Amino acid sequence: MNQTITAKSTCVTDLTTAQIKELLQFLGEPVYRAKQLQEWLYQKLASSFDEMTNLPRSFREKLAEKANLHSLAVAHEVYDPDGTVKTLFTLADGKTIESALMPYPGSEGHARYTVCASTQVGCPVRCAFCATGQQGFERNLTPGEIIDQVLYYARRLRPTEDSVSNVVFMGMGEPMANYDNLWQAIEMLNAPEGFGLGARHMTISTSGIIPMIERLSKEKLQVGLAISLHAPDDSLRDQLVPINKKYPLKELIQAVRDYFTATGRRPSFEYTLFEGINDSLPQARALVHLVQGMNCHVNLIPANSTPDSRFRPPTPEAALAFENELKRLHLNYTVRVRRGLQINAGCGQLRSRLLDNRR
Ligand code: SAH
Ligand code: SF4
Repeated sequence: MNQTITAKSTCVTDLTTAQIKELLQFLGEPVYRAKQLQEWLYQKLASSFDEMTNLPRSFREKLAEKANLHSLAVAHEVYDPDGTVKTLFTLADGKTIESALMPYPGSEGHARYTVCASTQVGCPVRCAFCATGQQGFERNLTPGEIIDQVLYYARRLRPTEDSVSNVVFMGMGEPMANYDNLWQAIEMLNAPEGFGLGARHMTISTSGIIPMIERLSKEKLQVGLAISLHAPDDSLRDQLVPINKKYPLKELIQAVRDYFTATGRRPSFEYTLFEGINDSLPQARALVHLVQGMNCHVNLIPANSTPDSRFRPPTPEAALAFENELKRLHLNYTVRVRRGLQINAGCGQLRSRLLDNRR
């Protein structure tokens, strides 16, 4: 018997369908109950084993003894006037992560909701401008901890008959540095017996871990890829995104081109504008040159200020001039609307603020 299944600390969302079946066998239950259990978990969004009324009481009791239903507890929550909800969760070992829910206008009076999920506690990449990067790395999230962030918001939205329409792995951590757990979570979020979210509605954002981009290009699921570029040349990117020293731009861009050739899926690039650092017109031209000929999309994002005042958003004039230069050179780009500005919704910023307050 697999140890993860017999340990009480197991969370049911940590289990693949095959592992749930193993657990059922271990508990002496018929295998068809896997489908019933997953329906309660991922479609009916049960908040307790007790609710699962078509499962025999004795089975529910055994389940509750062997496994937990949730891996996250809400520690703190803040709301922005733009509708963004930012949640700080405590994990079973007391560590904290943050996630966000962002509404976007939809059709027929219903908004569309994007969940921004974390994949690690802290982050090993340590980008200079990023609040999470400054917190250092603690550990990878388990598949269940990743899934439970999505289920938490899905449960919250249910009373208004809204649902989660997109998931972006752009919260704390480097998703590609926790590939196995992330992929297990993505498979369950996508599976018809799981949460049933289309793969195209999920996007992995990465600082550029080339071997994992290659791995992603071999996957069958059509999950989206976003690359956090932020600089058009190696000397600047080495300073902003230190993993660039290991995976420099020329190789990274080639890996993204190969990803497109292999999958036919259009990648996107994130370019956060920092005043006086990467917002000049020559840099705009270098950016266009870098991705020339690639079928891709660039998202321009004004910086979320961190306590380190070196990284400020550009002046409106500089941002507009940068944008106009991209337009003039026919680059396919969008300016990302800033969300949750009043609630420290930048990656890891709420957690940073709360950690600082505690000190
Ligand atoms: N580690 C992954 C995903 C999480 S970060 C990555 O780096 O892609 C999600 C996005 O937020 C990345 O594009 C990251 O560069 C950006 N980001 C981090 N700190 C920021 C800040 N202070 N202002 C604007 N964007 C920031
Ligand atoms: Fe990690 Fe992404 Fe933050 Fe860089 S920007 S430190 S990769 S979470």
